[in-house]
Order: sequence, then C-alpha cells, then structure tokens
Amino acid sequence: MTSPEAPYGRGAFGNPRAVAGLAARIDEAARSLGRPATFMEVCGTHTNAIAAAGLRRLLPRSIRLIAGPGCPVCVTPVGYVDRAEALARRPGIIVCTFGDMLRVPSSTGSLERVRAEGGDVRVVYSPRDAVDMARQNPSRRVVFLGVGFETTVPTVAAALDEAEATAVSNFLILSGHKVMPPPLRALASDPEVAVDGLLCPGHVSVITGWRAFAFLPEDYGLAAVVVGFTPTDVMRGVLDLVRQMAEGRPEVVNLYSRVVTADGNTRAKALVERYFTPEDQIWRGFGAIPASGLGLRPEFAHRDASLIEVDVCDPVEPEGCRCGEVLKGSINPPECPLFGRECTHESPVGACMVSSEGTCAAWYRHERFSQGGAP
Ligand code: SF4
Repeated sequence: MTSPEAPYGRGAFGNPRAVAGLAARIDEAARSLGRPATFMEVCGTHTNAIAAAGLRRLLPRSIRLIAGPGCPVCVTPVGYVDRAEALARRPGIIVCTFGDMLRVPSSTGSLERVRAEGGDVRVVYSPRDAVDMARQNPSRRVVFLGVGFETTVPTVAAALDEAEATAVSNFLILSGHKVMPPPLRALASDPEVAVDGLLCPGHVSVITGWRAFAFLPEDYGLAAVVVGFTPTDVMRGVLDLVRQMAEGRPEVVNLYSRVVTADGNTRAKALVERYFTPEDQIWRGFGAIPASGLGLRPEFAHRDASLIEVDVCDPVEPEGCRCGEVLKGSINPPECPLFGRECTHESPVGACMVSSEGTCAAWYRHERFSQGGAP
C-alpha cells in the first residue's frame, strides 16, 4: 500500500522550534504504541544528519534509531580493495578513485599505502575526470573504482558513454556498484534484525523512485518513509513511522516529494541499463546477496577491469573490527571495544570509521561523549 502525499505541511525545514514540536508529537504518538519501536536509516547522509543534530537525544526512550548499510564505501568488501591495490601495483595501470576509498583497510594495507610505495593511485572528483586522464595517458589503462549506490552509477554510466562516443579505449571500470533493495530484503527477512520501519534512502530514491521500496510494507509489513536530510525532514519521517505503526497500516509515504517521484529519474535509469546488468555482490557484514550489484554488460567487457588477471590473497578483515555488525544495525559503534580507543577518525581500523558517510565516523564526530562512547 502506498501514499504519495505527505500528511504534514511543508516548510520550516531545519527549524529548531519545528523540530522540538515534532519531538513532542513523536513522544505523544509513541505512548499510544504501547511498546518500543526500532527504526533504521539506510543512507550515510541520514546517519550523519541524525548524529550532527543530536536527534536521538530528542526522541523518547521507546523509539530507537539505528543505522543500516547506507554507506557505499563501508559495505565494499575487503576483497574489492585487495583487487584495486593489485591493479594499482601494475606498471601499465593508473587507478582513479574518490578520496574516501584511499584509507579503507585492505588485507595488507590500503590504497594510500600502495600509493606511498609507488603505485599509481589518483583521486578524482568525478568519473569524467578519469576519462580525461585516460585521454592524457594513451599508453596506460585508467581504471576507475566504481563504488556507490544507485545515485552514483548514472555518473559512471555517463563517463562510459563519453568514453564510447569519443573512442577512449583505455578507460575501464572496476565495478563494485550496489543497489539498495536486495540488502533491505535481506534485513527484513532476518529474524535477528528486529526493525519496525525504515527511513528509506533519500538520494537513492531520487533515482529509483519511492515505488522501489513498496515491497517493504507489501511483503514484510514494515512501515516506510522517504525523507530528506534536514532535522525537520527526519523527525517528520519518524513521526510518520510511528503513525503507521499505531494505525496498523504500513505503507511507503513520500515526505521528500520536492525531489522524489514514484518512478524516479527514468533517463538516468535507462543510461545505467545500457551499460550495467544485475549481478551478485558481496556486502561487508552480509556476504553475497543475489542481484545486489551492477556489473558491466558483456558487450562492454573491454572496459571491465575485473577481467584483468591479478594475484590476490584470501581477504582478511581488520582484527577486532565489528563493522559487519554495525552495518546490520546489530550494534551501535560504542559497543565495539575499539571505538574511540584504537579506532578513531584520525587513525581508523575499519571502513565504517574511514568514510565520511560511515556510522562509526558519525558517532565519533558527534555522539561519542553523549551516548556512552569511549572517553
Ligand atoms: S569502531 Fe572501528 S573497529 Fe569498531 S566497528 Fe567501527 S570501524 Fe570497526
């Protein structure tokens, strides 16, 4: 069941008085539930917005907000980073990446360390920068690390489009792209993950449309709401999730209608479909999830860096790191013994502390002194 209309008025986004008013309404609505409720956000930007605004502290104790697999760098498995490192060590290859990937731990180090040891790893700000680099280095292959969700993939597809149209044959992709619905199905059907509702990912929904999440209420009886990123947006979302539970009518409510439609960006989706096809992918903390990733179509095998043969060992996770449990919402970061001690944003042990979108990084920056984190 779905409802495209927001039941609350617009305006006052990020207004502290509006946030306080919504907190009071959530408190009142939560009392009518008669039991605690747990809601999960699955977008790194939501995780940061919630932590930065201290929204958890404004909610009644009976309402728990937890983070799920919303950070693309964090869910990228060690084996992917190992392969990227092996490519960067090859003399004829330049590896291009967004900056977040540089410090993500591999089995033996990181891309940053490979670069320090002479590997050619370069930070770019868009996939098209990597196409330009390929043009400027015709004797070498330029491999762009494709890490991201539905929001990022269209920009990679656009870069592929440009490379095809202008015959830049040495531009390749190592695709670790992932799509959000399959892991949400995995979470919804996992009896150990007791979630009552989801704050659906706002940016992803711009591309997919809110209808992509209709399976949450229809197949799993979960409340769902698509929201933006201001404190007011998030609090309105939480209030709606409580309302859906109280009324016993789970649905997808779109409270981000200023940018999210039912079917999303159909042009972007068509561009992605031209180059990519669903494939099984490994998610940190989840393992392999069927059809949860996007690999290059066979007709673009000449641009597929996963087909370049390299020696990689069996992946090794950082010792003691509990990122997998953080990504499934099983624990909050302060429950990891390394949080704020051996593992800090300045000296991260795991991927969830490295990425600016990571849950551990968000808690470390904003909540470690208020929520029982390390001193
Ligand atoms: S605090 Fe550090 S070591 Fe612990 S789960 Fe988070 S990233 Fe991993």
